[in-house]
Amino acid sequence: MTTPFAHPIEYDAPSLERGRLLFAGRCDFLLGVARLDQLPAADRVEVAFAGRSNVGKSSLVNALTGRRTLAKTSNTPGRTQQLNFFALGERGYLVDMPGYGYAEAPKEHVAAWNRLVEDYLKGRSTLARVLVLIDSRHGLKAADTTVLDLLDKAAVGYQIVLTKLDKLKPSQIAPCLKATRLAVARRPAAHPVVMPTSAEKGWGIPELRAEVASLPGMG
Ligand code: GDP
Repeated sequence: MTTPFAHPIEYDAPSLERGRLLFAGRCDFLLGVARLDQLPAADRVEVAFAGRSNVGKSSLVNALTGRRTLAKTSNTPGRTQQLNFFALGERGYLVDMPGYGYAEAPKEHVAAWNRLVEDYLKGRSTLARVLVLIDSRHGLKAADTTVLDLLDKAAVGYQIVLTKLDKLKPSQIAPCLKATRLAVARRPAAHPVVMPTSAEKGWGIPELRAEVASLPGMG
């Protein structure tokens, strides 16, 4: 696929194929977790997706998995405040975390989100990486910074994924990638490579699949 940017990583064909196969396999909704005692046994590698409401998380998860059912499940009323677990391939979990930073969210929701997410992030030994989605038009906002601080404190490795890159002018893409990379450069738990994507155009999707499949124990 031609993209209006050079991807920061050149994945070889076998890595891209591993990524394709991982997401072509089963990806079934397993359960929603509202309290930590409901977490499934920590017997598989997991990758979690986090981001502000409306960042394009459902669209990205749909683009990765090539199905619509996943994110629909997560957006079902009652499930939006949960950690939604999906079986990813035979050996992994994909965890859709509740969106944060919604301006009108009641205070008690925010507090509940923080508690659940904080406890989950701190205590989950099998959590290999959190993908933190950032809308490329907006960059890092205060709510994102709060989450990155939390991840740094909990020493949970995370990687920034830029979404909706098709909304930028082609000339804005490289500067946006660079600015985001610099913004997280000194953060201790941040992966140095920022992943560029557009769910709408399919940009960066094979590469993100390959990146997830490269996590030890996953692919
Ligand atoms: P969520 O709240 O983070 O799950 O966000 P959604 O996936 O529901 O997306 C929020 C809005 O952004 C929707 O109107 C999507 O159509 C739009 N959107 C999501 N991804 C993209 C993208 O890659 N490009 C464009 N142009 N719009 C997108």
